Amino acid sequence: MYFDTHAHLDNQQLSPIVEQVVQRAAAAGVSRMTAIGTDVPTSVRCVEITEQFEHVYAAVGIHPTVCQNFVADEVWPAIVEMASHPKVVAIGETGLDLHWETSTFELQKNWFQRHIDLSFETGLPLVVHMRDCETEIVTMLEQAAVAGRIIGIMHSFTGSAETARRCLKLGMYISFAGMVTFKKSDELRSVAASIPDDRLLIETDAPYLSPHPLRSKRPNEPSYLVHTAACLADVKNISPERLGAITTANARRVFQC
Ligand SMILES: [Zn+2]
Repeated sequence: MYFDTHAHLDNQQLSPIVEQVVQRAAAAGVSRMTAIGTDVPTSVRCVEITEQFEHVYAAVGIHPTVCQNFVADEVWPAIVEMASHPKVVAIGETGLDLHWETSTFELQKNWFQRHIDLSFETGLPLVVHMRDCETEIVTMLEQAAVAGRIIGIMHSFTGSAETARRCLKLGMYISFAGMVTFKKSDELRSVAASIPDDRLLIETDAPYLSPHPLRSKRPNEPSYLVHTAACLADVKNISPERLGAITTANARRVFQC
């Protein structure tokens, strides 16, 4: 049994057919998943979806690539309130993104810190997005760790072994998405091989980037997680069942669900 730790079930390609999506996932052995919000309306929708399905959980937050659209005083109280919902198991999606440059880095850091503080207050783990900012993000997490215990997930990890090592040292979990299955991802697979069993997670990041061999299929959906699981089982030289048991136990530990 698998746990998809990161799926945007609120997405317009998945939300209208969420019942079939969750059903297909269950049929494929993906029995649990966390729906990830990226702003207030999508977080609200994710929470709504959790109320429909026993083993679907939610994360609430404001994504670094859209944070420039919001005034913190106006939207943050809603995120804080949702964080106390019993099916909300994480804070995010948050993090830093120097790829799209949709907002200034200062503004992104400000929002990221806000999520870190809420994680400290609630005890819920962070769901961290990192793109083209490995040094900056690890530095910020290490600085934050002075004020409290960082708990969280580096989601859809594509960083270096060194970045992974520093995140692990902070106590974080490392989650791999479809990218790890791609032909050219030998280096990323070797990073995955270096992650201790008790910190490894898997995800689809649906509806984005379907795993090989379904790469041309869109949208990506949680049932496709089995392909990423098979790839990582191969990397770890264990059976997919064992990989599933290990990563599901890890997900349930970090999400406390
Ligand atoms: Zn995401």
